[in-house]
Amino acid sequence: MTNKLVLEIVTPYGQILSEEVDEVSAAGSEGDFGVLAGHVPFITTLKIGILSYKKGNETIYLFVNSGYVEVTGEKVIVLADSAEKATDIDVERAKAAMKRAEERLKKVEEIDFARATAALERSTIRIQLAQRR
Ligand code: ATP
Repeated sequence: MTNKLVLEIVTPYGQILSEEVDEVSAAGSEGDFGVLAGHVPFITTLKIGILSYKKGNETIYLFVNSGYVEVTGEKVIVLADSAEKATDIDVERAKAAMKRAEERLKKVEEIDFARATAALERSTIRIQLAQRR
């Protein structure tokens, strides 16, 4: 058995990542978790949050917008609504999305609250994550 894991991240926009890594950490709906090679298999859902992986001494961060993760002893497969590496985040776009969501949430008439809240969460985490790169 090798002590490496293959991490794959797939979204409707395409495959974001397929890499051999040492360790994966992610924001599961039930809490944060970490995975090393040989982990017992499980499937869980992911929150809007940050996924990171270690490769040697390097830690790489990605934004992941909800989804599922399947863990086996050799692989971590993420199916997410959207995802991008911290280095690919367009901060101005995230700020504009944040502003739109905040404006919507201020309105007194009926709005799709869950949708605006999720948009606010996505933009907030993207802006935070962009500061780590
Ligand atoms: P926006 O309102 O700006 O489209 P969003 O949160 O609704 O933001 P998503 O549905 O999460 O966007 O993502 C749609 C696509 O755009 C995905 O491919 C995602 O990786 C990309 N994307 C969204 N926001 C950003 C950003 N700030 N920087 C880089 N890529 C982004």
